[in-house]
Amino acid sequence: MASQYQGANTPADPKHSSRLGLRQHFYLAEVFGGLKLTGLRFFANMWRHTLHTIFRIKSARGAVTIQYPDERRPYATRLRSLHRLVRREDGSPRCVACMMCETVCPAHCIYIVATEHPNPEIEKVPERFDIDLGKCVFCGYCVQACPEDAIRMDTGILEFSSYSRGGMIYTKETLLALEAAGPNGVPTSPVPIPADRRAP
Ligand code: SF4
Ligand code: SF4
Repeated sequence: MASQYQGANTPADPKHSSRLGLRQHFYLAEVFGGLKLTGLRFFANMWRHTLHTIFRIKSARGAVTIQYPDERRPYATRLRSLHRLVRREDGSPRCVACMMCETVCPAHCIYIVATEHPNPEIEKVPERFDIDLGKCVFCGYCVQACPEDAIRMDTGILEFSSYSRGGMIYTKETLLALEAAGPNGVPTSPVPIPADRRAP
């Protein structure tokens, strides 16, 4: 009696025998069949891509490849992208230099120097707030730990790079200048250019 766990596609099922047919024994026929299919797809995609690119027929899309960087896939709203520091109405950082983010950061890539805030109602403000993005693992713990909602990872900026390790250190001024991404996660701020890539 056949086991109750024996599936329909097991080799014991005579209808699904793994024996090859005569055509499969001659691999060349299968290879030519595959080349024919690939060739047809290639020329069909090329024709549609030509219509899309030259004749601007939007509905005629060729290959499914996204033409990055001219086209971008919509980003998920919960994507963790480049950090930014949130500003108060007067433009000063909302951050109160409590060091929570620096403490919780598993990569030890946040460096804060606190100073007195000119407003007596606010105890402290960061004099210096650096993030070494060469070390950051984009875990988002700093955002979660912040009691002031002063740091966010919602710029939508992913294409930041540098020729040196020092160029990956983003300062308070750079982080304060960034804005939140727009709809679909499209960045609204230009990608910050590190010091080692700026024109002399
Ligand atoms: S995302 Fe994670 S690793 Fe990066 S700065 Fe924040 S806490 Fe540190
Ligand atoms: S946790 Fe928030 S308020 Fe505290 S130092 Fe970090 S960014 Fe500033």
